[in-house]
Amino acid sequence: MKIVKSIDELRKDLKGYKLEGKSIGLVPTMGFLHEGHASLIRKARAENDIVVVSDFINPIQFGPKEDLKIYPRDLESDSKLCEDIGVDFIFAPEASEMYHDRKTFVDIEDMSNNLCGAKRPGHFRGVCTVCTKLFNITGADRAYFGQKDAQQVAIIKKVVFDLNIPIEIIPCPIVREDDGLALSSRNTYLSKEERKAALCLSKAIFKGEDLAKSGSSVSEVLSKMKEIISSEKLARIDYISAVDLSTMEDAKDFDGDRLVAIAVFIGKTRLIDNFIYRR
Ligand code: AMP
Repeated sequence: MKIVKSIDELRKDLKGYKLEGKSIGLVPTMGFLHEGHASLIRKARAENDIVVVSDFINPIQFGPKEDLKIYPRDLESDSKLCEDIGVDFIFAPEASEMYHDRKTFVDIEDMSNNLCGAKRPGHFRGVCTVCTKLFNITGADRAYFGQKDAQQVAIIKKVVFDLNIPIEIIPCPIVREDDGLALSSRNTYLSKEERKAALCLSKAIFKGEDLAKSGSSVSEVLSKMKEIISSEKLARIDYISAVDLSTMEDAKDFDGDRLVAIAVFIGKTRLIDNFIYRR
């Protein structure tokens, strides 16, 4: 496994493999890797000749008051996890390698007006820009994304379609702790008490999914989920919404594929979770 910090070097290395007709799988991450990331990396390993994991805390997807400065990082332990799975390249550039004198961004209309897009202005512009750059730098055949960030998956799929980027986007299921909490690098911010409180997210998600499957309406599902989260005193709801899975527009019914997504502050830590309802 090779850790590469330069765009040119990675390009050169991967070009050789492309010329040999080898397939490349890319797993974009911000590092501090856990089992959620590992599940994406294993799938990429199983489906491609060459696996590239990008390990880059993308500054332009953070708002001015967000946690960019304290976002956890540990390239050494990330390298070990990647080495164990059999990754070929970790791409871990400095921010200055990815961005200098930037004037061009990739942005998406409408689909970023809701959910995290509404609560984190500029976030998806940063995500779309960095992902497009990573797709161009690696020339990967497939890129693996977690459904934990379901709006991100929908948006990246649309960017790839609209801009004719020759890459297949592969969504992967949410990996959870045994007690239900969705794995996240941000879980490390939680105190012991907050960690317990954070279970209100998965409880609300599981209950909401049950209700949706058994025929409850969108408003019944959302109000039960709100009730579960509001009963936890350390929790503050940022949003709870049901949207159309492909357009990300508000949905009033379950007459189609839906994403039911939540963002909740546990103390100062903002966590997200969701379920997908397919008709
Ligand atoms: P991040 O490092 O948080 O930007 O995440 C990198 C990728 O890992 C994204 O595609 C996430 O959706 C995915 N991911 C993060 N947490 C999980 C999880 N608990 N289950 C599945 N995928 C995840």
